[in-house]
Amino acid sequence: MGCSVEDVTAAVREAAKVVCAHRDELVELDREIGDGDHGENLQRGFTAVLAKLDGGGFDGPASVLKVTATTLISTVGGAAGPLYGTAFLRASTAVGDVSEVDGRVVVSALRAALEGVVARGKAAPGDKTMVDALTPAVDAAQSTVDAGGAVPEVLRAAADAADAGAEATIALVARKGRASYLGERSAGHLDPGARSTAVLLRALADAAGS
Ligand code: ADP
Ligand code: MG
Ligand code: MG
Repeated sequence: MGCSVEDVTAAVREAAKVVCAHRDELVELDREIGDGDHGENLQRGFTAVLAKLDGGGFDGPASVLKVTATTLISTVGGAAGPLYGTAFLRASTAVGDVSEVDGRVVVSALRAALEGVVARGKAAPGDKTMVDALTPAVDAAQSTVDAGGAVPEVLRAAADAADAGAEATIALVARKGRASYLGERSAGHLDPGARSTAVLLRALADAAGS
């Protein structure tokens, strides 16, 4: 039993709403080490995603992810727009033409998303970016599916690992993005993009019923 196009639409809608609800927190984090717009950027993008998803008419899980990607790319400015857009676009390609998303498909989508973010932004683990949340999430998702876990367990493991990965960015000195302009002064602050990645994954896990 996997997730149908309706399940995936509901999960992305839930993630969009939750990210919008975290607008102020993400703005605050980005004020500390960036330009204070991360929550605003994502709220704009995910509000547009919700409007697009209201239109319906998706022929499979991949098309839901693809519309999310193109909407984010065209509405979110800054670094995060193209990065999240690429993540959802690669995830869509990885899902392909399956009509039901199972645990293995979730893992390949998450891995493709990470590879897309890295291809686009060239950040490595430890650079204090969203990559520091997404990398451990992919590893945890893989181990969970290898141990026989289904979608809810896979997403819960990914969300837990992303939370820990995001928290671990506090100690790091930023080497990519605006925060890198601060050098050593970027240490001691949670990276906004790592936090939004953790928020997104938690919302997807909650929507999957884990
Ligand atoms: P901007 O910095 O252009 O204002 P946002 O504030 O929306 O864009 O997003 C900032 C977040 O984007 C950072 O917290 C970081 O997680 C992420 N980010 C920035 N540059 C990169 C990169 N090269 N690779 C991966 N993530 C990045
Ligand atoms: Mg910013
Ligand atoms: Mg900006």
